[in-house]
Amino acid sequence: IIEHGLPERSVTTTCAYCGVGCSFHAEIRDDRVVRMTPNKDGSANEGHACIKGRFAYGYATHADRITTPMIRDSIDHPWREVSWEEAIAYAARRLRDIQRQYGPDSIGGITSSRCTNEETYLVQKLVRAAFGNNNVDTCARVCHSPTGYGLKTTLGESAGTQSFKSVERSDVILVMGANPTDAHPVFASRLKRRLREGAKLIVIDPRRIDLVAGPHVRATHHLPVRPGGNVACINAMAHTIVEEGLEAKAYIGERCEREAYEKWRAFILREENSPESTEEATGIPAAELRAAARLFAAGPNSAIYYGLGVSEHSQGSTTVMGIANLAMLTGNLGREGVGVNPLRGQNNVQGSCDMGSFPHELPGYRHVSDPGVRGLFEQEWQVELQAEPGLRIPNMFDASISGRFKGLYCQGEDVAQSDPDIQHVEHALRSLECLIVQDLFLNETARFAHVFLPGSSFLEKNGTFTNAERRISPVRKAVEPMATYEDWEVTQLLSNALGYAMNYSHPSEIMDEIGRLTPTFAGVTYQKIDELGSIQWPCNEAAPEGTPTMHVDEFVRGKGYFAITGFVPTDERSSRKYPLLLTTGRILSQYNVGAQTRRTENSRFYAEDVLEIHPFDAEARGISEGDWCGISSRAGDTVLRALLTDRVQPGVVYTTFHFPFSGANVITTDNSDWATNCPEYKVTAVQVAKVSER
Ligand code: SF4
Repeated sequence: IIEHGLPERSVTTTCAYCGVGCSFHAEIRDDRVVRMTPNKDGSANEGHACIKGRFAYGYATHADRITTPMIRDSIDHPWREVSWEEAIAYAARRLRDIQRQYGPDSIGGITSSRCTNEETYLVQKLVRAAFGNNNVDTCARVCHSPTGYGLKTTLGESAGTQSFKSVERSDVILVMGANPTDAHPVFASRLKRRLREGAKLIVIDPRRIDLVAGPHVRATHHLPVRPGGNVACINAMAHTIVEEGLEAKAYIGERCEREAYEKWRAFILREENSPESTEEATGIPAAELRAAARLFAAGPNSAIYYGLGVSEHSQGSTTVMGIANLAMLTGNLGREGVGVNPLRGQNNVQGSCDMGSFPHELPGYRHVSDPGVRGLFEQEWQVELQAEPGLRIPNMFDASISGRFKGLYCQGEDVAQSDPDIQHVEHALRSLECLIVQDLFLNETARFAHVFLPGSSFLEKNGTFTNAERRISPVRKAVEPMATYEDWEVTQLLSNALGYAMNYSHPSEIMDEIGRLTPTFAGVTYQKIDELGSIQWPCNEAAPEGTPTMHVDEFVRGKGYFAITGFVPTDERSSRKYPLLLTTGRILSQYNVGAQTRRTENSRFYAEDVLEIHPFDAEARGISEGDWCGISSRAGDTVLRALLTDRVQPGVVYTTFHFPFSGANVITTDNSDWATNCPEYKVTAVQVAKVSER
C-alpha cells in the first residue's frame, strides 16, 4: 500500500491455495492488486485469513511468468516464441498426427485442482469430445481420489458431509492424518476455538503436530500411529466400540444396510482387529486406543476430519471406508457437529473431481459405461462418447514408456515434481512425442514439453472454486490476463483447432451447461452465486439454496453401507538396509510444490525442505542439527539438512516437499492405493546417513 498508494477499487474473489476456500477482496490500484483483504462475509472464513492467502499473491506478477506461447520440435532444441495462433495450430497438428499414426487413444489430458471448475470441465470435455477418448485425469489422483471412492461406496456421495461451521457444535473431534494448523489454518482456528470451549480432541498421526500440545490447545489422546498402520488403528477403534456395546444400535438399525452391517460386525469382532492384536501394526498401546474409542463413541457429537495422511497410502480407500464405518457405527452422520470431513489440500480438489476429470466418470460422478448418462452428454455435446474408462495418470506414464501413449495436454499440474518416483515420471515424459504444458511458469514438467501455453493466475480470470465443504465460490477477474487469454479460452482455442467447436463467450455459460447436465449443480448459476456469496452443492429444486449438511434423513445411496476393511500391511517395509520410515507433509508458509509461494516473500520464513529426525536416530548416525543427510530409498536418493526433534518418533523421519532441488519425490516409491492408484507418499522405507555436502 505504501509503495503503490491507496486502492481504487476491489473485486471479491476466492483464495487459490488450500481447500478452505477463503473469500477475499482483491484491492486494486493502477490495474495492479495491492492488497488482499479477507472478506468478513465469506462463509468459509468470516474475515479470517492465513499467511498464504493474505500475503503470498505476488507470484502472479513475478518476473518468471511466461506470457508468450513457445514451441520446439524436440526437447533438445531451444524454445521459439510464437503467436497464439501458431502455437495452437502447431499443438493441434501434432496431436492429430499422433492419433493418425498411433490411434485415437494415444493422447490424453491432465487437469489440475488449481484450475476453476469451468476450466477442468472444459478439459474433460476437450478430451472426451475432441480427442475422442476418456484419457483424462486430475491431480486429485495423487491426493484425495481414495476419498471419492471410499465415501461413494459407503455413503453414496464423493464429498465431505458438513460445513466448516459444523465443528462449532462438536463435542469430540478426531483429526487423522491431517495437520490443519499448517495446511488449513483458517479452519484450524475455528477448530481450536471449539477446543478452548471444552470440546475433546483425538489426534491420530505419526507426528506430534501442533494440535497435540500446541499453544492454547491439547489433545486428550494422541495416537502416534506407525506409518502404514491406519486401517489397523481405525478397525481397532471400531472393534472396541462393538465389543464394549457402545455402538448406536437404533441409528444403525434405521439408517444402514442390515446384512452388510451383520457381516461387518462379525468381521470387526475378530480377535485380529482388537487393539491388543494390532499393537505391533499401529505402534499404539491398546489401553490408549481403547480409551480414545470410548471417548469418540461417547460424543454425543463426534466429528472426523482427515487429510492426506489417510488417503496417500496403499490402503487409502480402505481407511476412508473405515472412517465412514466408524461414523455410522456411532450415529455421527446427518446433523451438525458430526460427520466425515476430508480436508482437501488444494483449492479446487473437490471441484475438479465433481467436474468429471476422471477417466471413468462424467461430471457428477456418473460412470462412463452408463448409456443413459452418456446419452445426455452426447445430446448436449453432439458427439459420440466412449463407454470404456480411459487411462489414469500412472497408466498414462506406463503406456508412454511402452510406446502406446504419445501425446499429453497438461494444464496447471507439475507432474515432474509432484508425482512419486520421479525417475519413472521423467522417463515417461521424455518418451512422449508431444507434450503441451499450460502453466504460469516454466515448471519442471515443461523441461520435457514441445508446446508451452502461458496460463492465467486466479487474479486474471472468472470462474468458480469448490472447497472442502462443497462450497462453490466465485473467482472474479481483478486484472486483465498477462498472457491475453484466460485458461478456459486456451482450451477452447485448442478444441476449435482440433475441429470440435466450442463457442463459449463467458465461463458463466460453461456453468449453465454444467447445471443442465449435472443434477447436483442443477440450481447453480453465476447470478445465484453472486446473490448468496457462495453455494454448497447439491443445489437443485429440492435444495435451491444449497445443502450445508448431507445425509440428513437418509444417505445419498439410501442405506449406509458398512464395507469390510481388512488390514493388509503395505509392501513398503522397513528392513536392515532401509530401517526408517519416511512420511511427508506441509509447512504453513509454503504450498505444495512451491511454484507460487517460493516466488513470494513467504520464502523468508522457510527457504528449504529439511529432514525431521528423532535425536535417538540422529545420534546413532552421528548426525547433528543442521548436518547434511543423505536419504536413500528403494526408488532413489536425495540430500536434506537435519532438524533434530522429538515431534517424530524414533524410527520415523519426516520432510516437506515444497522445493524441487530437495526432491522428496525422488525417493517416494510407486506403491499406490489398491482402488484408485493414489500414490503411497506417506510410507517410504529409507536409510539416513551424514554426508559432507548436498
Ligand atoms: Fe487461503 Fe487456505 Fe489460508 Fe484460507 S486458509 S487464506 S484458503 S491458504
